[in-house]
Amino acid sequence: MTIRLAKRVNLAVPSAMSGLYSANLSADAVSFAAGQPNERYFPTPAMTRAIDQALAQGGQHLFQYHDVLGNPELRAQLAARIARTGGVSATQDNVVLTVGGQQGLEVIAKTVLNPGDDVIVEGPCYFGALGAFDLCEPTYHTVPLQADGVDLEQLEATLKQYPETKLFYTVPDYQNPTGVTMSVAKRQRLVALANQYDFIILEDSPYRDLGYTGTPLPTIKHFDTQGRVVFLSSFSKILVPGLRVGWLVADGDLLAGIQKMLLASNLGAASVVQEALANYMKENDLDAHMVELKNHYHEQHDAMMAAIQKYVPDAVTVTHPTGGFYYWVTLPQGVDTTAVLANIAAPQAHVTYIPSANFYPQHDVHNGLRLSYSGVTPAQIDAGMRRLGRVLETAIRR
Ligand code: PMP
Repeated sequence: MTIRLAKRVNLAVPSAMSGLYSANLSADAVSFAAGQPNERYFPTPAMTRAIDQALAQGGQHLFQYHDVLGNPELRAQLAARIARTGGVSATQDNVVLTVGGQQGLEVIAKTVLNPGDDVIVEGPCYFGALGAFDLCEPTYHTVPLQADGVDLEQLEATLKQYPETKLFYTVPDYQNPTGVTMSVAKRQRLVALANQYDFIILEDSPYRDLGYTGTPLPTIKHFDTQGRVVFLSSFSKILVPGLRVGWLVADGDLLAGIQKMLLASNLGAASVVQEALANYMKENDLDAHMVELKNHYHEQHDAMMAAIQKYVPDAVTVTHPTGGFYYWVTLPQGVDTTAVLANIAAPQAHVTYIPSANFYPQHDVHNGLRLSYSGVTPAQIDAGMRRLGRVLETAIRR
């Protein structure tokens, strides 16, 4: 018997999202695949206190249904924070809480896209966004990334070719998967293009607070004068992912549409965890936590850079991120990183990564790979990259 599923359930796709590339590894294997935050850095005692406080002080009302947009106090705290760090002029009325950034991606897609609509993504693009957008069956167009963000000339050429484009999706800060950050000039110009060609920008920035040098750039949303940019973020990478709280900033009709889709989706996310996070934000210095967190990840980031310089063959290019969790490696044309992972890296060298095919809507780019260093120690990074360096040399020679 075959169970008849919807077309959108493509069972072959989600190997990267389901964590397959980190599963079933031997004890001494090194995984550069998982993009999870490192749980050794979770502020567990403070978070436990914040949850206890919510339960102790919330009373009966804590367990009632609440505003679909989320806890007003937490929304006000987030509005104040993104105004200060990203130049977004938002109040709590513009902020919506979601079940992780992932639900934000899904809800925004549902709000904006009809089947077949043109969507432009960066090449490469975060696979979780592709998974969420796929539900709306869009027509994808990919515009390559450069060292300072998306190639705007190519973007404009694509817009001329597909003038009905509805949505452009970008991760402008320490992008997943490349680590690339979009320049301020490109942010400004991108909003001008959105105004000219009448499309919506989805600015997904869960890594914005994880810059290891300098100060954060203004958000794309900062330059938005027409309410066509949705800013999306999450607590997953800066505090803990387990509470599943993400948030977005939107205006006007977009905001009203998102609210309607959220009602259909979940009648509002779990209010108890939102109350706990509001307590955490009130009782703790999130900026101080970020300083500590960034010290840890910075050390891993530098260890990865050193290992890349030591072990990666000359024929390979690597991005130069200054924050986040990732480096992107480009091999000569003809090398297939999916095959290399399956045949050599994982089974023989005991080292994993995520192959580039996962980061393209048509799964048609095969000579790249994403390295994540968030979950590995400097010693593991050195050991893993020594192995991967040999694997890549072999792959190039073949
Ligand atoms: N966007 C990007 C760019 C991400 O890297 C992630 C997590 N990998 C998410 C969204 C979603 O994360 P979460 O649902 O945990 O907030």
